[in-house]
Amino acid sequence: MAPFELARPATLQDAIALLDPEDPDIRPVGGGTAVMLMMKAGVLRPTRLVSLAGIEPEHARLGVGADGALRIGGLARLSALEHSVAVREGWPMLARTLRTLSNVRVRHVATVGGNLAHADPHMDLPPVLSALGARVTVTGPDGTRTLPVEDLSTGYYETVLARDELVTAVDVPAQAGRAGAYMKVTTRAAHDWPALGVAVVLDLDGEQVRDARVFVGAATDRPTRLAGAEALLRGAAARDDAVLKRAGEAAAAELDIVGDPHGSASYKKHLLSVYLGRAVRCALAGGAGKEHA
Ligand SMILES: Cc1cc2nc3c(=O)[nH]c(=O)nc-3n(C[C@H](O)[C@H](O)[C@H](O)COP(=O)(O)OP(=O)(O)OC[C@H]3O[C@@H](n4cnc5c(N)ncnc54)[C@H](O)[C@@H]3O)c2cc1C
Repeated sequence: MAPFELARPATLQDAIALLDPEDPDIRPVGGGTAVMLMMKAGVLRPTRLVSLAGIEPEHARLGVGADGALRIGGLARLSALEHSVAVREGWPMLARTLRTLSNVRVRHVATVGGNLAHADPHMDLPPVLSALGARVTVTGPDGTRTLPVEDLSTGYYETVLARDELVTAVDVPAQAGRAGAYMKVTTRAAHDWPALGVAVVLDLDGEQVRDARVFVGAATDRPTRLAGAEALLRGAAARDDAVLKRAGEAAAAELDIVGDPHGSASYKKHLLSVYLGRAVRCALAGGAGKEHA
């Protein structure tokens, strides 16, 4: 491994000042779980790593605002979300997703900001946060901006972040009253990388779908919204098997799915056509169904 400088700033502003908008070899580090793997594989050879571990503790906080939204600091550990009573009670879909996201060792060190900035299209959180309508706050030398989580990734390991911008918070609207589920399909252990991930959030009027947000992960180069499937679900009876079948088929048809070591494109297409309906049924059951397969 080539030698590199490890900077340990004590404030967010100092961390940002140590980054360089022009230099891809200067990188921030949250938990370092992805950075270290990339360095070991030789795909990242940094000249400087800027550790965010020592910046103001407020950036690692979790809290629920007066509007009922969950505010997650960019430096919050995935395990903090997993074990938060507020998250378990208010955003059960999020809490359940975390249980099979990687393993306990990774969850204890990985941060929410690092998770979103990494932009591996196989990751579990981005489709879930996108389906919940979450927004991400980004801070750079000129201040902060916010954008929907679904607009953060632009492709394989690519985001809209400038090299001197950091993910500093994520705001998740209250799940209250909305039914949600994330189906993680793995070909090996339940906590393995998904062959496919389907996140569904339904706004229901009794048994009828008033609105639906559906996102798929591990199928294309970024988490993708399934507008065709959503349109079929909107206004339909949520338990209508024929509608769920049509929505699954529409989802599979509307995407140009990419194969990977976890499954071929045709396998993933089939999974999507089946698991979209299962995700809706699981959401209707309050997430009581099996959310991984
Ligand atoms: C063994 C293993 C299994 C895994 N399995 C899964 C899985 O099943 N599902 C899943 O979803 N994920 C899985 N992961 C991925 C894991 O979720 C990510 O590695 C982790 O979330 C990254 O967070 P981090 O804080 O460690 O990021 P880091 O490694 O610190 O950083 C990742 C990237 O983000 C940048 N970065 C870090 N923090 C910020 C910030 N605040 N703002 C802007 N840029 C930043 C870094 O420069 C780097 O480019 C697995 C990882 C491992 C090692």
